[in-house]
Amino acid sequence: MKRNKNTAPGNSHTSVKSSEPPFIVVGAGLVGSLLSIYLSKRGFKTEIYERRADMRKQKISAGKSINLALSDRGWKALQGVGIADEIKKIAIPMKGRMVHDSKGNTQFHPYGKEGQAIYSVSRAGLNCMLMDLAEKKGARIHFNERFTGTVAAPAPAGKSASDDMYLKMENAATGKESAIPAKRIFGTDGAFSAARLHVQLSTDRFEYSQHYLDYGYKELLIPPLENGDFAMEKNCLHIWARGSFMMIALPNIDCSFTCTLFLPFEGGLSFAALDTREKAEKFFRETFPDAVPVMPTLLHDFFANPTSSLVTVRCYPWSIHDKILLAGDAAHAIVPFFGQGMNCGFEDCSVLEQIMEKHFGTNRKPEAVGESKTWQNVFREFQEARKPNADAIADLAVANFTEMRDLVTHPSFILQKKIEARFSALHPGYWIPLYSMVTFSDLPYSAALKAGARQDAIMKKILATPGIEQKWDSHEVEEMMLKLLKETAN
Ligand SMILES: Cc1cc2nc3c(=O)[nH]c(=O)nc-3n(C[C@H](O)[C@H](O)[C@H](O)COP(=O)(O)OP(=O)(O)OC[C@H]3O[C@@H](n4cnc5c(N)ncnc54)[C@H](O)[C@@H]3O)c2cc1C
Repeated sequence: MKRNKNTAPGNSHTSVKSSEPPFIVVGAGLVGSLLSIYLSKRGFKTEIYERRADMRKQKISAGKSINLALSDRGWKALQGVGIADEIKKIAIPMKGRMVHDSKGNTQFHPYGKEGQAIYSVSRAGLNCMLMDLAEKKGARIHFNERFTGTVAAPAPAGKSASDDMYLKMENAATGKESAIPAKRIFGTDGAFSAARLHVQLSTDRFEYSQHYLDYGYKELLIPPLENGDFAMEKNCLHIWARGSFMMIALPNIDCSFTCTLFLPFEGGLSFAALDTREKAEKFFRETFPDAVPVMPTLLHDFFANPTSSLVTVRCYPWSIHDKILLAGDAAHAIVPFFGQGMNCGFEDCSVLEQIMEKHFGTNRKPEAVGESKTWQNVFREFQEARKPNADAIADLAVANFTEMRDLVTHPSFILQKKIEARFSALHPGYWIPLYSMVTFSDLPYSAALKAGARQDAIMKKILATPGIEQKWDSHEVEEMMLKLLKETAN
């Protein structure tokens, strides 16, 4: 690892806190909090440093996705530390998409089989519960502390240099800098990660790319009705797909819905173009006629809430020796159209746990001897296992934007879903719809991407069959699909 040449601990503007070096998790977001539970459970002394104030004591402001869809990979990771049941208490099952057309008619499309659902959870509620649990399992969380880099540990008098590191922290409230000793660092500080920047600056041939969509998003609100009920069907994800843009709504436990409008930043129909109350009102009334009556604060929210951007970040490697590991959005930020960013980050935690278990055994921390080499192997195996899957879900997430905003209203897409559902029910060993592979299984994302591409090619041929609209549920179509599967095997 390259040593950072910046200020060493103990110089004029840093002060060293003395203690046995812990594992340090940077960022007490969703992934950092869960990861610290896994680390503490293994007996590692874990401390979290979080840039923001303690959100459990703060009012949450609008802006960054108030609720999220939690699905099987996320549940599995929460189950791994025994907290899934607790979280389920604040989650609302969404069994399918409720597609709203431009006249206000609705059509329900189930996500999977009977009994399958994705779950709407409050980001803040989930994060607060995870922080509570992290503390309960023994992790200390330091708030208002922003990670800015690392410095090498100084050699104690008369001894050779230790290979511990010091994290440079800046206190958000006072601006005071400090240096915190660390045995290892887990960078879970999100899409605009300072830990990632540090890995980048310290690593030769570090691969990095970031790609922004031309689209932004803005959160809006559908409050509960006067009688306290939900204003729309509760157990589904509502979509107003309008071809080149869309609005979605997810239910909250207070009976409101959080809506998210995805629209180009610039151009004829864009956030930039909707620059007066009159234009915005006309746009909403014409485009989402059934939503406007249940959005009493629409215009206020539209102009008061921020317009945020959508980024995909890819980078590699995710580690430096046995010292630093990136996980969650810090390693792989993706756009939200498959509802998988957090789920993928949570899966990082369960995969890391599997690799630790392989090297260290069940619930046991490594012996001091050989520890460094073992951790290096753990980090290397983790990044090698996760990188292809992170790349795959990044691609799938971008592709799913077209499906959500446009295809869901096309008759051929609806027919495709019906054919797939029927065939998959008849031959579950041969065909799992792509959405189900991603959402209702823990099949590696890269395998789901590959199988999905093969199935898509088959479906294109099936949909091109003359008279498919009439015979989609026939034995003939079933046989054709089996034949095409056989032909394209391997
Ligand atoms: C609009 C939208 C909708 C989404 N919907 C879904 C969904 O339905 N399902 C899903 O699975 N995913 C969804 N996602 C993705 C999901 O939000 C992210 O994947 C998830 O939040 C990543 O968690 P994280 O802990 O890695 O990062 P974050 O949640 O961003 O947490 C990072 C933490 O690090 C802290 N931090 C940042 N910098 C520093 C620093 N220098 N020092 C110390 N602390 C720092 C931050 O304050 C924060 O607390 C959505 C994302 C968006 C934008």
